[in-house]
Amino acid sequence: MSSRAILIQFDCDSQPSVFDGVVAIDSGVDHLLPHANVRPENVRELVYGAIFTRAVSELHRTAIFIGGSDVAAGEAILAAVRKTFFGPMRVSVMLDANGANTTAAAAVLAAAAHVDLRGAKAAVLAATGPVGRRVVQLLAASGAEVRAVSRNQARAVAVCEAVAAKLPSARLSPCAGGSIEETERAVEGVDVLVAAGAAGVELLPEKTWRNAAGPQVAVDLNAVPPVGLTGIEATDRAAERRGVVCYGAIGVGGMKMKIHKAAIRRLFESNDQVLDAEEIFEIGRSVR
Ligand code: NAP
Repeated sequence: MSSRAILIQFDCDSQPSVFDGVVAIDSGVDHLLPHANVRPENVRELVYGAIFTRAVSELHRTAIFIGGSDVAAGEAILAAVRKTFFGPMRVSVMLDANGANTTAAAAVLAAAAHVDLRGAKAAVLAATGPVGRRVVQLLAASGAEVRAVSRNQARAVAVCEAVAAKLPSARLSPCAGGSIEETERAVEGVDVLVAAGAAGVELLPEKTWRNAAGPQVAVDLNAVPPVGLTGIEATDRAAERRGVVCYGAIGVGGMKMKIHKAAIRRLFESNDQVLDAEEIFEIGRSVR
């Protein structure tokens, strides 16, 4: 009989995410061990507790999930966790702070269901947030030419540089989107448009994001009214609106949940996986 599946939740917030805990249980985890206020400097002892308790042959039945509201903090925790592992003394680990990886994967998979991303032109509005940057990365990794749009050109450049450092073959252009006119120019002629703006912030009115040349598919990840791309409903899921296939945040949410659960299940297949944006996206490809 194999040992019970234990998921250790590392959360940077003062209360571990209940959402992540419920999804873990619904994904088949037998025991959830939630930890709050996790910081890179206090990770080592927690990881020792994970890797020194079971035989190496049973370490695939223990895994770590890194969550919380601060994605940069989650990334630092992941780096500290990986640094603590050595040789076979490791467990699989998944990063999905603020739902950024699963949400970005679901958004890009939604677009890929309608447009061949290899060679496609894509624009990501508000590309500097944790979700937007991952959407840029995943679109670029899928072969699209990506315009990363921000109200601040320097921040758009920084996102492109960070993605290019991970993906040297990425075709990226930083674009200023400080005004509606600038943003309109940035989205001209794209096949795929993804809006990753903050909750409750309208980024473009409908008449400006639709143009003669496209887009073919538009995804808006903001569920809180007003939505980012006016004309899209939060519940849209492949809804055709005047020739554009539209997805809203709730429409993408179902796929996001499936990806999250599939990634949790994958953690327990071996003890050496690190599930970050691209690995979670690959898992998403196999989810239907
Ligand atoms: P975020 O960090 O709050 O904001 C993303 C970007 O929005 C910022 O980097 C900024 O980009 C822009 N922005 C912020 N305030 C703005 C303002 N007042 N006016 C115009 N632009 C503004 O968002 P996030 O955490 O990456 O999440 C992105 C979206 O996905 C959010 O709407 C979030 O609610 C949603 N989300 C959905 C799910 C889901 O399951 N469906 C899960 C997680 C997140 P610039 O400064 O570069 O312009």
